[in-house]
Amino acid sequence: MGSLDRGVLTGFICRLCSEMHRVVLHIYGEEGIRLSISEKISRYLSINVSRSDPLPKTICKNCLERLEDQHRLVMVMEAAASVLKGQRSGKAQIKIK
Ligand SMILES: [Zn+2]
Repeated sequence: MGSLDRGVLTGFICRLCSEMHRVVLHIYGEEGIRLSISEKISRYLSINVSRSDPLPKTICKNCLERLEDQHRLVMVMEAAASVLKGQRSGKAQIKIK
């Protein structure tokens, strides 16, 4: 059989790190939508992903883990910020802008 471009056949390019991976998550696949991947990418990474852009719609496991870590961190920080705001009326002088 003829030789085919290995780069195309051996995996998918991750949208975030641009490396080739055999196992990727489709941003607009069932799991990607369930995990709100496109929303998390645009919120935390200042990258706009849309279904109609010509760039890859897949992300690798490493980038998914980093994105989820970032999401967890932000969730913790937002919860902490609301706790601190709730304590502002106390003795502690905490400035939150
Ligand atoms: Zn990646």
